[in-house]
Amino acid sequence: MSLPTESTPITLRVLGVKLHAVSMDQAVERVLTMAHQPGFHLVVTLGTEMVMRAQHDEEFRELVNGADLVVADGAGLLWAARRCGLSLPERVAGIDLVCRLAETLAGSKGSFFLLGAAPGVAEEAARTLCKRFPGLQIVGAQDGFFREDGPVVQAIAASEARVLLTGLGSPRQERWMRQHQDRLGVGVGIGVGGSFDVLSGRKTRAPGWMIRLHLEWLFRLACEPSRLLRMMALPRFMGRVLGSRGQAVTLWSDQVSPGSPASP
Ligand code: UDP
Repeated sequence: MSLPTESTPITLRVLGVKLHAVSMDQAVERVLTMAHQPGFHLVVTLGTEMVMRAQHDEEFRELVNGADLVVADGAGLLWAARRCGLSLPERVAGIDLVCRLAETLAGSKGSFFLLGAAPGVAEEAARTLCKRFPGLQIVGAQDGFFREDGPVVQAIAASEARVLLTGLGSPRQERWMRQHQDRLGVGVGIGVGGSFDVLSGRKTRAPGWMIRLHLEWLFRLACEPSRLLRMMALPRFMGRVLGSRGQAVTLWSDQVSPGSPASP
């Protein structure tokens, strides 16, 4: 058994899907470390919809389980961990991670490339980030409605960005990054879903009190009723957790939590 250390956070298994028990500060630190290590590192911002997809899509499950960092984007994951006697430090929403990284990278050498959303949206999101975090380097932006991958991959590689933020929606964003990882030239690729829509001001994020009460999903549903079918994944997820007798969330195979007794 291996004991988790600062650099190897506790890893959980949520219905067979990997999830790292990290705080926002730890997530930021890990992303920055990986950004300057050789090779490509995939970061997944996991939600309950993705966990439910992974139940029937084995390739997607393997993709997530092979990621270098998987953070809890969905509040349902925190609830599930608690129900199963484990805990996650806090929610690490994709959009909040982007802002924290932008804040930390402002004035330093790290740089972003934004890929995804409707034409013009990634550029607007980039402008917002640069205004909010002076000194931040955004070296490219590209919408998510391109026909050929080749020129987009080349543009990202030519930009010499260290961090690629991909908002193509899941599972496309994770698959796209894995497929092209060796030619992107970036240190880290993070799937950020609809974050650019919010950063650009095209969509409104739930008010702070709703986020704190873990009701962001309700706000999104009210704004976009067409999401109802997708959001049915949440009650299905909750049903699986409640019916699991506390086994839906477990420690990832060979780890023990720091507080638990070591095996003889
Ligand atoms: N999108 C894209 N290319 C496509 C389809 C979708 O770039 O071919 C973008 C879409 O404009 C939106 C994002 O992908 O900005 C998906 O957002 P969604 O709210 O569905 O993602 P979530 O935050 O739920 O993961």
